Amino acid sequence: MFLKILIANRGEIAVRIIRACREMGVSTVAVFSEADRESLHVNLADESYCIGGPLSKDSYLNMSAILSAAVATKSEAIHPGYGFLAENAAFAKLCAENGLAFIGPDAETISLMGDKDMARRTMGDADVPIIPGCDLVKDVSHAKNEAEKIGFPLLIKARSGGGGRGIRLIHSMAELDQAYQTATSEAAAAFGDGAVYMEKYLHPVKHIEMQLLADHFGNVVCLGERDCSTQRKNQKLIEESPAEIMSADTRQRMIDATVNAGIAAKYRGAGTIEYLYDQAGNFYFMEMNTRLQVEHPVTEMVTLIDLVKWQIRVASGMKLDFTQKDIEFKGHAIECRINAENPYQNFQPSWGKIEMLHIPNGPWIRFDTAIYQGYTIPPFYDPMIGKLIVHAKTRDEAIRKMKAALCELIIEGVMHNASFQADILSAEEFVNSTYTTDYLEAYL
Ligand code: ADP
Ligand code: ADP
Ligand code: MG
Repeated sequence: MFLKILIANRGEIAVRIIRACREMGVSTVAVFSEADRESLHVNLADESYCIGGPLSKDSYLNMSAILSAAVATKSEAIHPGYGFLAENAAFAKLCAENGLAFIGPDAETISLMGDKDMARRTMGDADVPIIPGCDLVKDVSHAKNEAEKIGFPLLIKARSGGGGRGIRLIHSMAELDQAYQTATSEAAAAFGDGAVYMEKYLHPVKHIEMQLLADHFGNVVCLGERDCSTQRKNQKLIEESPAEIMSADTRQRMIDATVNAGIAAKYRGAGTIEYLYDQAGNFYFMEMNTRLQVEHPVTEMVTLIDLVKWQIRVASGMKLDFTQKDIEFKGHAIECRINAENPYQNFQPSWGKIEMLHIPNGPWIRFDTAIYQGYTIPPFYDPMIGKLIVHAKTRDEAIRKMKAALCELIIEGVMHNASFQADILSAEEFVNSTYTTDYLEAYL
């Protein structure tokens, strides 16, 4: 096991990782930007170092500053969390070159899956069903040819897109020209890569994703599914496990496909395969996230498997001590993302000082956060300030527990979305589990 790990992230996920390390007896090094001096992860870690200015590019994306801190502190490994450098193949490679273990898959796997177009083809070759679509499009006339074959509506998607951005829906050939131009220039500006591909827009569908875990000895297990169909602007708001409408037979087929995909990709560590799932029970590969997922806690609750600890264990060379048939799914878990934003004013982000904080508590209630009373949320980063997770024997009970917990959560000083989340939990589609990725926009 590693003696010391540097956490190249901030916020709730940095705190989550520090806690796992402490339980495992591993020392921790936090890095932080000038805007994060008062952050919880800085206080909780054994050592902390400022690595640059408030803008992510100067600190949390600053590879040389992070690597220098790791080497100077004699850290043995770097945990990248999610976002920032978590899916950056160049960073994973630099870690290896500097004798540091990157807690995630190797650089080749990251670049293969990070290229969403290449990932599609790789999965297709591994017999995983993929969404009808095309490879990279070269120019507008190529796009028109392909669009003819795919049919409308379709999506133009950025090869290097992520975080729900870089996706454009078009309904007819008349929209294609303009949409292609804006999609490529926006992708170039946002991801430093203007390349795009196209996919048939499937609807109505659920976003169902499967959690993978693999060690360095070829053992690959799938820890079941999460229904992440509650989305706004392609960004997840609520996640749950299991997906109640899914038959045991379909679940098994998805588990088998996911394990096969993991083997085909020679995957190591924790990863997630995202699928679209239609009403006939067909599923199609959408993308693979080669990192810990924001919503990993719902899987931890229903499997009792600590994903962060297992990421660290397998990265240090330990073998998985359980197999697919040892995995049991117990009860139902739901996560609501708590964002500092105003849901009643077009979800405008909200920053400032937390004047008063009361965190809900009680049996099977978990709040993953880095905020505390008196903390000032800086304007530079993600608006997600916490994740409220509940676990119960049945879905109905989990919904009731979540509503009660949301009601108990008090955050004064900034706007947040807790009461909006409680409203969604009462929406008919949510209650009967039939909700699809487009229901929230319709609900709004
Ligand atoms: P999840 O599927 O776990 O919700 P997301 O894809 O929404 O994960 O991204 C997780 C985090 O990483 C979010 O904070 C998101 O803003 C950020 N992120 C993901 N991909 C990118 C990207 N290409 N550029 C910038 N931020 C990203
Ligand atoms: P990101 O890397 O930003 O997470 P994804 O490819 O996972 O991008 O897509 C984000 C969301 O957009 C999905 O969760 C889904 O709701 C929607 N989406 C993506 N591709 C399609 C598609 N072909 N048809 C319908 N919806 C899609
Ligand atoms: Mg995705």
